[in-house]
Amino acid sequence: MRIGILGGGQLGRMLALAAHPMGHEVITWSRAMSEPAAAVSKMVLGEFDNETALAAFIAQVDVVTYEFENVPAETVESIAQVRPVRPGVKSLRIAGDRVSEKQLFRELGIGTAPFAAVNNADELRRAVDEVGLPAVLKTRRFGYDGKGQAVLRDASELDGAWTSLGGVPCILEGFMPFSRELSILGVRSVSGEVRTYPLVENVHQGGILRVTHAPALAVPKSMENAAHEAISATLQELEHVGVLAMELFDVGGVLFANEIAPRVHNTGHFSIEGAKTSQFENHIRAVVGAPLGDTSLRGVSWMRNLIGRIPDEREVLKVPGAHLHLYGKSERRARKVGHITLSGEGPKSIAIGIEAISRLVIDDG
Ligand code: AMP
Repeated sequence: MRIGILGGGQLGRMLALAAHPMGHEVITWSRAMSEPAAAVSKMVLGEFDNETALAAFIAQVDVVTYEFENVPAETVESIAQVRPVRPGVKSLRIAGDRVSEKQLFRELGIGTAPFAAVNNADELRRAVDEVGLPAVLKTRRFGYDGKGQAVLRDASELDGAWTSLGGVPCILEGFMPFSRELSILGVRSVSGEVRTYPLVENVHQGGILRVTHAPALAVPKSMENAAHEAISATLQELEHVGVLAMELFDVGGVLFANEIAPRVHNTGHFSIEGAKTSQFENHIRAVVGAPLGDTSLRGVSWMRNLIGRIPDEREVLKVPGAHLHLYGKSERRARKVGHITLSGEGPKSIAIGIEAISRLVIDDG
């Protein structure tokens, strides 16, 4: 099939790399030829509101997916009138708005932080009365990698935080005293079959994902089941087709959902080497209407993001079991330029590699 991808970043690049072996053609619509997906797909260039680019894109594709959730819903709606878009507009709309996604969690009985929508400084004061302090004020839309957020610890900080986020519609969330951050990926096919990957554990710094451990350690069966039920219910409710990621907080052994991403996700990059079917392959399978692949793990994996700086390739590849993924991006502070995955039969088999890579990788940002 001819698969159209909205967005040409590293997720588009890895989706294209998964689509090629199955014989599909990939066309990405993005802003610039310098984007990571350009090396591995045909490109349509232009802004997402450009009618000429839209027509050119539609003419070249049989089915469409997206690799980031800030594609305008109107663009996706126009495409959906003439081509199947998987996942659909509903997933994009809900996941693109922090209030809608938290309302969805509530409706589905999935635990989440207390929250309130905030549209002005007065509402922020009322929201603080309701939610309490400490709390996190986040923009409802367009936040990523910890951007568009402010932690509030004291009532004197409210006005400053409101102004610093630009006075745009926000959500106030109670600050969750989590012991660790987990995530789960699931995939749903056109026929409604759902498969989920095991829970993984993530380490963030400055709002940016640094490390994923797959699987998460010391997860009681009840917690694993709760996560699988939460993501399965979300996939079904959204009639989502493709991969969806859910980020969770572990608070004293109880899971609280933080957010969903209606797409392949950084915390699933380990699955290229670490699962029987990678998140990218499973997303493509879902999008083209094929049966899904086995989501079980191949042993244990450790994924380290490369932030802002690319380490010496030869040194990385000297480390037994290390797999290097570079996205074709230049170095820039706080930018995700690649990742390294180590996979092995058990934790001992990758322990030395983790030490070696941790010494080699120095982030900028
Ligand atoms: P987000 O953009 O929602 O994924 O938030 C980025 C990071 O901020 C998360 O990975 C957490 O480390 C932290 N964070 C977000 N929301 C909360 C919250 N309600 N309570 C505590 N920490 C949070």
